[in-house]
Amino acid sequence: MALSLDEIPAVDQHCHAFRKGFERMTPQMLRQSLTEATDAQVLEQHTPQTIAYRWALRQCAKRLGCATDEETLVAARNRSIAQAGSAYTRHLLDDAGIAHLCVDTGLQPEHYQDTDTFAVSAARPVHPILRLERFFEEQLPYCTSLDDLVDQTRQTLHALRNDGTIAVKSIAAYRIGLALEPGDPAAARSVFDALHQAAIQHPEHVRLSDPALLDFLLWEALRCCADEAIPVQFHTGYGDPDADLRTASPLHLRRVLEDPDFHDLPVVLLHCYPYVREAGYLAAVYPQVFFDLSLASGHAPSLAEQLFEEAFALAPSSKLLFATDAHSLPEAYWLFARVQRQALAMVLEKLMRNNWLTAEQSEGIAHQILWRNACQLYGLPSLG
Ligand SMILES: [Zn+2]
Repeated sequence: MALSLDEIPAVDQHCHAFRKGFERMTPQMLRQSLTEATDAQVLEQHTPQTIAYRWALRQCAKRLGCATDEETLVAARNRSIAQAGSAYTRHLLDDAGIAHLCVDTGLQPEHYQDTDTFAVSAARPVHPILRLERFFEEQLPYCTSLDDLVDQTRQTLHALRNDGTIAVKSIAAYRIGLALEPGDPAAARSVFDALHQAAIQHPEHVRLSDPALLDFLLWEALRCCADEAIPVQFHTGYGDPDADLRTASPLHLRRVLEDPDFHDLPVVLLHCYPYVREAGYLAAVYPQVFFDLSLASGHAPSLAEQLFEEAFALAPSSKLLFATDAHSLPEAYWLFARVQRQALAMVLEKLMRNNWLTAEQSEGIAHQILWRNACQLYGLPSLG
């Protein structure tokens, strides 16, 4: 029996906002939304040669009713959005079945829409997620001591939900790797003093990447999140070349996951590729671990089914979440959501066919992954 997930709404539990000026798409913007490459030569010569790019062109061209070459497609798309206005974006996200968007607000705020603008553009509820490293960096020029910064962090996390923020996110994988440790206050203090001075001089250039300080600050933040029951999303697995994939396996989070203080701290592993089996294992054995297949399922669409199969092999269906990790262009949310829906349907059908699941169980699992697990985890209103 064919399984249709089209009518089931989804919570996109991790994405970014539209890029300012997304209404005028350039080939460069389209390429950048389909790869983690940042090198100009790769983007120019090689990104168009990927499966993801060729597939995206065909999907978008079909929707617009135009030819599949990049130049024609970009022109047709920009004409279409100029004519249809906000309905263009609304229809894409409706077609993707995305009911709610949970947005990491820490990605280059100068280039991306703020939360309120994004909610208007997307025409649906947007729930902010605070990026911890950016928060620390923004506080650095104003906090005169490490204790002061820890105090600010505590106060902010204590009041986090007041403005509707639902979670925090860490990009430790981009800075020090995921083998987080409690950190030593004396070592953290000495790094803080130097960085504080540098931040006063050049607040726009602050980059927190010293393990002595970041370990300490993240551990303090995790303690507050545990006290306040605030879910913590971690970038894991692949990202742009600034992330060291060698130290981005979620297995490195062992010290956090094993700490009795963090037993009830919800930890959400984002992306996970190529460590999907590892993430599935962690979700199977630790009560507090959740994960998603965002990013990779969109950038490696031909692998999306396999990713779901690997995830399902060990992980309870109560632990897997739906997310696109899309940014910049509404087309990216549409493409990434649709490929995941299709892959999820195919895998559930296969599991039914091979008698691992009943039809009723499969449907229940689809609801769990698309919205139910996220609504429970982040305290969002039920979509059922
Ligand atoms: Zn992201």
